[in-house]
Amino acid sequence: MSLLKCEVITAAADRKSLSINGSCVCGAIEFEAELIPGMVFNCHCSRCRKSHGAAFATQAFARRETLRFIRGKEHLREYDSTGGIRAFCSHCGSRLMNFAKDGGDYLSIALACVDSAHDAKPVADVCVNSKVDWQPLSDTIPSYPELPDDIAE
Ligand SMILES: [Zn+2]
Ligand SMILES: [Zn+2]
Repeated sequence: MSLLKCEVITAAADRKSLSINGSCVCGAIEFEAELIPGMVFNCHCSRCRKSHGAAFATQAFARRETLRFIRGKEHLREYDSTGGIRAFCSHCGSRLMNFAKDGGDYLSIALACVDSAHDAKPVADVCVNSKVDWQPLSDTIPSYPELPDDIAE
């Protein structure tokens, strides 16, 4: 399973969207986007863990064309990681979003950086083959050793 698939999933185009606003911890960057319902995953891969400094990263998918920076886009920096671009605030280091290297139609947004109220919530734990031992899995959502192919449709 490629990291690209883990981070930038091609999603069904006809699902209803959810408007959100997000920001980094220092507030320099603020953005808005439309989330794709049902496309929220807790990713336990080592790259998500390390780049977020957390047991896992909760990533919500959005169409890239819906991403708009309200302020601070000039503070956004990109780290060219294996399989994708990881974007963060150059001031405070907050991890905000991931893109495909080739552009792509979708991006994933760190759900923890979203400030507005929303109904999005994780539907699965993925890449749990890479999970740390000290973090128990939820017993309310399914878990997958890698990223299941049917999620990527
Ligand atoms: Zn910041
Ligand atoms: Zn990951």
